[in-house]
Amino acid sequence: MIPFNEPLYVEKGLTYITEAILKYRRLNGDGVFTERCTNWFEKKCGTKVLLTTSCTHALEMAALLADIQPGDEVIMPAFTFVSTADAFVLRGARIKFVDIRKDTMNIDETLIENAITNQTKAIVPVHYAGVGCEMDRIMEIAKQHHLFVIEDAAQGMMAAYKGRYLGTIGEFGAYSFHETKNYTMGEGGLILINQKEYVHRGEILREKGTNRAQFFRGEVDKYSWIDLGSSYLPSEMNAAYLMPQLEIAEEINERRLKLWNLYYEELKELEEKEKISLPYIPKECKHNGHIFYIKTRNQKERTELIQFLGQYDIKAVFHYIPLHTSIAGCKFGEFVGRDKYTTEESRRLVRLPMYYALKEEEIKYVTACIKKFYEKR
Ligand SMILES: *Cc1c(COP(=O)(O)O)cnc(C)c1O
Repeated sequence: MIPFNEPLYVEKGLTYITEAILKYRRLNGDGVFTERCTNWFEKKCGTKVLLTTSCTHALEMAALLADIQPGDEVIMPAFTFVSTADAFVLRGARIKFVDIRKDTMNIDETLIENAITNQTKAIVPVHYAGVGCEMDRIMEIAKQHHLFVIEDAAQGMMAAYKGRYLGTIGEFGAYSFHETKNYTMGEGGLILINQKEYVHRGEILREKGTNRAQFFRGEVDKYSWIDLGSSYLPSEMNAAYLMPQLEIAEEINERRLKLWNLYYEELKELEEKEKISLPYIPKECKHNGHIFYIKTRNQKERTELIQFLGQYDIKAVFHYIPLHTSIAGCKFGEFVGRDKYTTEESRRLVRLPMYYALKEEEIKYVTACIKKFYEKR
């Protein structure tokens, strides 16, 4: 059986967890391993970083930092995970869904301005499959209309747009370390804070509304409750699992890209025969091999392909049901303009098995099965 995903495990994962437990004797948050992970990201990304319990929580923190209030409007694509919207709905915002681009499945930057009203407070680009949105244009629009840009870069670690890491371009960015992502701690994430003035409040929100972070740095002699907040810090055991992956982050990224490129090479002939479509990477973008997807001609063919691969012990899966067609999506938001691609393209998309431990022979087996499926079609 070739599963769709296998959570990343690298050597030293268990060693570091054991160290957290037996050497440092500390399991709660903000110990040695959280600090090492944070430093690694801050050095790499050049922004302030706070490790969180999930990307969902990082997005919730961003919504709080952007001071989203009931009645505010937030613009995002409908082709995304529920958390992108939930974080803002929790603050009472209305979601304005904008159509995606057919080529990258990312928000269509040319349609954003049409969705802006006096209530609009933020734009939330989602970098699908670790392929960057058209950030120059998005930042320009945000500047002109005084809006926050909060990047849902859950899938975007190591990927870049015009040489800048995804998640570091807007005011805030969020990564996920869920077990399905390129780097993982089971459940976890982080928020990237690009402007210094938000760092202080970010630390307070994350520590139940207290200035405990300042206290531990010795900047204040006691800590107390000074703002609203929640508990957004992960356990040291989770950070210890993530740390060794960061030590070989480049190697992991290169491996994924190699696997991604092999899929692409093997399936090119089917695209040339116009049987399937392959992903498109704009020249401004350096991606991270997070997802390898193909698009079938229609939804019926997709269902048949997924079933066919299942018979050969290959687990392929579809992805998001567009949020504006869901119960909560209808309640908390609406689509602005025409849904030209969101629904149609999401119905054609199939994700193929993709994980660090996947082998070249397995990819050749998967692609051979796909070619077999299309033989008579
Ligand atoms: C995975 C994912 C999330 C949620 O990440 P968690 O860490 O599970 O909260 C949010 N947005 C997108 C686009 C994702 O892919």
